[in-house]
Amino acid sequence: MLRSMMADPTSSLPVRLARAEHVFPTLTPEQIARIAPHGRVREIRAGEVLVNAGDQVTPFFVVTAGQIEVIRPSGAVETTIVVHHPGQFTGEANMISGRPALFQARVRESGEVIQLDHDQMLALVQTDAELSEILMRAFILRRLELVASDLGDVVLIGSMHSPGTLRIKEFLTRNSHPHTYIDLDRDPDVQTLLDRFHVAVADVPVLICRGSAVLRNPSNQEIASCLGFNAAIDQTHVRDVVIVGAGPSGLAAAVYGASEGLDVLVVEANSPGGQAGSSSRIENYLGFPTGISGQELAGRAYTQAQKFGAQIMIAKGATQLTCDRKPYAIEIDNGPRVQARAVIIASGARYRRLSVENLSRFEGAGVYYGATPVERQLCGGEEVIVVGGGNSAGQAAVFLAQTARRVQIFVRSSNLAESMSRYLIRRIEDSPVIVLRTNAEIVALDGGEHIERVSWRNNTTGKIETEKVSHVFVMTGAVPNTHWLDGCVALDAKGFIKTGPDLSQHELADAHWPLARPPHLLETSLPGVFAVGDVRGGNIKRVASAVGEGSIAVAFVQQVLHE
Ligand SMILES: Cc1cc2nc3c(=O)[nH]c(=O)nc-3n(C[C@H](O)[C@H](O)[C@H](O)COP(=O)(O)OP(=O)(O)OC[C@H]3O[C@@H](n4cnc5c(N)ncnc54)[C@H](O)[C@@H]3O)c2cc1C
Repeated sequence: MLRSMMADPTSSLPVRLARAEHVFPTLTPEQIARIAPHGRVREIRAGEVLVNAGDQVTPFFVVTAGQIEVIRPSGAVETTIVVHHPGQFTGEANMISGRPALFQARVRESGEVIQLDHDQMLALVQTDAELSEILMRAFILRRLELVASDLGDVVLIGSMHSPGTLRIKEFLTRNSHPHTYIDLDRDPDVQTLLDRFHVAVADVPVLICRGSAVLRNPSNQEIASCLGFNAAIDQTHVRDVVIVGAGPSGLAAAVYGASEGLDVLVVEANSPGGQAGSSSRIENYLGFPTGISGQELAGRAYTQAQKFGAQIMIAKGATQLTCDRKPYAIEIDNGPRVQARAVIIASGARYRRLSVENLSRFEGAGVYYGATPVERQLCGGEEVIVVGGGNSAGQAAVFLAQTARRVQIFVRSSNLAESMSRYLIRRIEDSPVIVLRTNAEIVALDGGEHIERVSWRNNTTGKIETEKVSHVFVMTGAVPNTHWLDGCVALDAKGFIKTGPDLSQHELADAHWPLARPPHLLETSLPGVFAVGDVRGGNIKRVASAVGEGSIAVAFVQQVLHE
């Protein structure tokens, strides 16, 4: 890849030449004149610190005279990330998300700037389409460059064979948080580093957060808290709508809700993107003829929702819905409850697991529920098994076949025709690397710290075979995330939420439905509480339908709020 230092010869952020003009654009005098009324013009003096790394509130600066340098402080050493000249502006993705600053911004040469606070910045990108495009693109590309260059405020020390390391890597990646990874298995100097922080090898993975806090095998919640992901979110006031889950349906509801002026809070137990976020390539989503990775789609939707002012709480699960009075209240993991006039349940579904006794021992150590580039890297040139006959299994097999020695697909049925899209079946048939095993079921997993052998039974002959395989991808469907609702809304026999016309008179009477009107489309048996996407009974397990439902629900939320 052709790389070059751009924006300034002293910059340490390597930016691809092709997109440098978009990463560090120079605004025209007309564009600067349109920004000025949103903020205030002020003088800056050489050496003045405008933003400190870790500052929760980061103003936005357009340089009109002088220079601002962006610096990564690391102990006594300083790394210059970039220098902004007249016409250029500061900031990257956290400018939109309201998360703490990753770096310091300091005046290098005295001059003048236009300064906007966070709300003024959001108002600007919501009202000026041309500037919105320039700024949003620059912020997103700058974050991508930081991620690609491992330039951030986090160092992860671990081993790719440890489930904890994989979990944390995935959490940081899915939150697009730039980090440096040190692999214990490869880096001989790492012990010295661990000693410096008084960390025993048994404590890994270790996360060094903002150069100071040393977290030993931290939970996702601890990481989110250390990095201040949720620090800017006010949990005390009553929201127009709280959305539970930031998969495609929840993110769509957030984008439409916030863009229509609603006060929106999204509560996400893990990372934005949901199941779609773990999809290596979504090829059937409208508008992306060459496909898009779930991670990229989720990242764009996440930024889009925040641009319109939606707030998104990360690594915070809803544990209970208090539904006997209004406004409704949602209890959150280790945190205060949030109140809402309307609720959109978008908590999706989770994977079915294999019925193998020692499964949990190997989860993340050979058993995976998503096939992303992280997992693919692990199984390059090796034997892989994919379990399942649906589209997600087919996609995983085709994706992993690009680098694996052989991919075996295990299905309990006698063929794929009823469960998988025709285009995927054709790719599987055409691949010399993929082998389909029908009527096959995994009965045992074996190994030490990692899977080494897999045994399966042919259900037609009863014969059991064992082979050396270290990677098993389980893609066998999902069960709904409704446990936290605790009787508040009517569910179907499989635990999915019933909505709109699917609710019988009998069910509505049981739920004490209080209104003269019947429930709206997507409304549950509780007025003002909606269910969208994979958590809803009768859902179509597709990104597009989840997104569509999220947007439709917002239209009904608007009606309910005026009722
Ligand atoms: C590997 C894979 C590949 C796929 N590929 C495609 C494809 O190519 N095309 C296609 O159309 N569809 C595809 N799908 C299906 C598609 O991803 C789903 O239909 C879609 O993600 C459903 O969106 P959702 O928002 O309803 O739920 P989910 O994506 O399941 O998201 C739900 C979110 O809610 C969160 N959550 C759960 N419980 C709580 C709680 N109590 N509190 C807070 N948050 C909570 C979860 O962490 C999750 O982020 C694929 C699915 C998988 C797994």
